[in-house]
Amino acid sequence: MVNIFALDIGGTKIACGIYDENLDLVREWKVPTGKSLSDIEGAVLKACRRAREEAGIAAIGISAAGNIKPDRRTIAFSTNIPCWIEYPLADIIEAECKVPVIVENDANAAGWAEFAHGSGQGSSNMVMVTLGTGMGGALVLNKELYRGSFGMAGEVGHLPMVSSGLPCGCGLFGCAEKYASGTALETLAKQAVRRDPEAGSKLLELCEGDPEKITGSLVFAAAEAGDELSLSIFRETGSWLGKTLAAISAVLDPDTYVLGGSAATPLLLAEARSAYPKFLQASSFRPHAEIRLAKFSGDAGMIGAADLALRKVRE
Ligand SMILES: [Zn+2]
Repeated sequence: MVNIFALDIGGTKIACGIYDENLDLVREWKVPTGKSLSDIEGAVLKACRRAREEAGIAAIGISAAGNIKPDRRTIAFSTNIPCWIEYPLADIIEAECKVPVIVENDANAAGWAEFAHGSGQGSSNMVMVTLGTGMGGALVLNKELYRGSFGMAGEVGHLPMVSSGLPCGCGLFGCAEKYASGTALETLAKQAVRRDPEAGSKLLELCEGDPEKITGSLVFAAAEAGDELSLSIFRETGSWLGKTLAAISAVLDPDTYVLGGSAATPLLLAEARSAYPKFLQASSFRPHAEIRLAKFSGDAGMIGAADLALRKVRE
């Protein structure tokens, strides 16, 4: 029996999971990430030692927020963990644990999980779009993860959709994630309620009168209950999402889109499906990509990292 250890290293916590060779979860736990370079390294190595002692492991797969070098061993930089610059994570763990280690960007790992075991199964060219605070992406082209020449591919949230549009955290303006993400949904709802409290009465009731408390899931709940304002916000966000997917199709022509993340709800899926053909080039003359919701949620990064590590063992 082969066991794999997978870690998903985020800015505040490290999720750890031991998987068997069928990728069934054997055991999982979480530890705080820590702040300094030595704290984080200590937490990661301690988790790896624990996994090795408890289960015996054949390889380690790591999903981490950051720009990973093409050899999938070194983290070039990470916005979530700023002390990681040219950081040889795989070398450090291999020296301690003596098993192969593979490091993958968290969005790519989640995309790979969907392609190999989730809603993207059977696809040849799949694009995963993760909708949360922002909009992330992963590309699987010709059944392989596509990282780009500099490890920067798949940043679908920063497609420039609107010239002189809303300012984005990346320093540019009018990026897709400012119009189609969990945050965009919230921002639109807050603006709409302040502009017209009467039309926003259902949302105001749900947020106890404080528009600042409006979240994406609250807008979803109101829309599900038939609230017209919330439905219109979903139509607008879904339309932007459909337009973004059509822009991706113009370049990559995938057969499948998988929508994941906390804001990927059935309602947004329906709106994106209806908007997509309107923006698709030669829409009536071509097959349309399937647009589906993701199978996995928060554990997608770990499952993807575990699968990539297992493939490494079987190479
Ligand atoms: Zn941007």
